[in-house]
Amino acid sequence: MSHYALTIHQAQEKLRAREVSAVELSQAVLNRIQDTDQHLHSYLTVCAEEALAQAETADRTLANGATPPPLCGIPIALKDVILAQGVRSTAGSKILEHFVSPYDATVTQRLKEAGAVIIGKVNCDEFAMGSSNENSAFNPCRNPWDTDRVPGGSSGGSASSVAADQTCAALGTDTGGSIRLPAAFCGIVGLKPTYGRVSRFGVVAYASSLDQVGPCTKDVRDCALLLEVIAGHDPRDSTSVNRPTPSYTAHLERGVSGLRIGIPQEYFIEGMQPEVETAVGDAIAHLQVLGAEIVPISLPHTEYAIASYYVIAMAEASSNLARYDGVRYGYRAAEVEDLGALYQTTRAQGFGSEVKRRIALGTYVLSAGYYDAYYVKAQKVRTLIRQDFLDAFKTCDIIATPVAPTTAFRLGEKLADPLTMYLSDIFTIAVNLAGLPGLSVPCGFDQHGLPIGLQLIGRPFDEEALLQAGYAYEQDHDWGARKPPL
Ligand code: GLN
Repeated sequence: MSHYALTIHQAQEKLRAREVSAVELSQAVLNRIQDTDQHLHSYLTVCAEEALAQAETADRTLANGATPPPLCGIPIALKDVILAQGVRSTAGSKILEHFVSPYDATVTQRLKEAGAVIIGKVNCDEFAMGSSNENSAFNPCRNPWDTDRVPGGSSGGSASSVAADQTCAALGTDTGGSIRLPAAFCGIVGLKPTYGRVSRFGVVAYASSLDQVGPCTKDVRDCALLLEVIAGHDPRDSTSVNRPTPSYTAHLERGVSGLRIGIPQEYFIEGMQPEVETAVGDAIAHLQVLGAEIVPISLPHTEYAIASYYVIAMAEASSNLARYDGVRYGYRAAEVEDLGALYQTTRAQGFGSEVKRRIALGTYVLSAGYYDAYYVKAQKVRTLIRQDFLDAFKTCDIIATPVAPTTAFRLGEKLADPLTMYLSDIFTIAVNLAGLPGLSVPCGFDQHGLPIGLQLIGRPFDEEALLQAGYAYEQDHDWGARKPPL
């Protein structure tokens, strides 16, 4: 197997056995990027020099005999909303096109402390707003399984780079499905951790009551490994929760015997692509064969999830994005008359149209007179949605659903109508509103050879159960062995 195709755990073994050096591994991945990225545009910035220097350090650590840190010498890519010191971080926006971060995000720092090699920054929708990556201000990223199709968004580059073996693994962010949707569309594993599980310090904010950072990996074991490294309390993010991080890899093989899996009737809807329904149904049946108990459940407020999410997310976005005014950092419009014009022109020129739409709508739902009718109402619905899940978890331990109603769609197909684009998030968004963990695991392919994802949703802070179930399923279905036709 080519070095670039290794999973994290395979690379770990080979590096420790000195069968491959960290420099060789990073070089193989850099060559792979060089050979393939003109078709995919996964990367916005490749950190070749820095990566090779980090790999040399890793080789010295590996040579000195002591147990190396868990990610020693492993190439990891970062979604371009996650800051790395001295590296350009655009968040997929023109307004940050030349922004070089003066510091590391906490997750970046943790990766570095674990010995990882930061191989580059990957493409995403502008400020993580989107479901297809087409809102990136730079070249939209493509799906490695069919480059006429989208990789899903907003962490499209994270998913495509992992699927195309342009990195061992990547981090993404998930505000309303942005890790799980691209993971499903690209045939990789993606996890949105519980709100509060992973620090967002140094992550460009979109909707702060929803944003979470999580792993995008080639298999479930890698997902557990990477979560173990990035999870945990951070005093610099007041929403990060101070509770111990379990060892997610230690109990991965526990199996699903006796596990109660809830199937929400509201998630198997009309209009769903039949192959998605069949593949997800087969995956659930397989978990039952492995000893899980299947329990029908109801999440009655599901139909309000998209509407309330988009009100809340846009409201928070309009507030978070107020900081891009051309004064402190990022793009600044030239030759303006006064301060008001500076703000206006900078923002008019720097933001793309979807971002502007959201700032306008977000400001609207927060304005006097509409605040109660939209924003407060959406918050009340959010509480009901969370309560639906907590009620369901009285009779089941995890919940299984599709990740998305369809497989990857064609570029341009949904651009004209933002509402149909928002509908791609129908199965993922409620999980963010409720603050729960959600895992996307490959569960088959459609007739065009496009990947399908199974979503497993857990109780707050019970990522373990999701990883165990995903792992058990994956042991019998090695969908990851199939590689995109690049
Ligand atoms: N598609 C959703 C949105 O555009 C989700 C984005 C995300 O999770 N970052 O808001």
